[in-house]
Amino acid sequence: MADEDNELQERVCRACGEPYRYPVRHSPATRFHCASCAGLPADVRAMFEKYNRRIKALAVQLERLEQRCRAPEHGSAEPRPGR
Ligand SMILES: [Zn+2]
Repeated sequence: MADEDNELQERVCRACGEPYRYPVRHSPATRFHCASCAGLPADVRAMFEKYNRRIKALAVQLERLEQRCRAPEHGSAEPRPGR
């Protein structure tokens, strides 16, 4: 409770996408990376970041496609049986 110098924040790791807290005492976590990713070699971490960005972009695309499939395209919004 006496920690007034640093406010604990809920952050998301840039490399693995996992939520983590920052700053945590004795934790190697940085502003952008969780404790486990902060310990990775920089080039490995960079690769993780690259793939994580790609996954996020794909997730956004997937969501858009799902919305488009759900949206009634022909005006008549007739719910289809099954999925
Ligand atoms: Zn991480």
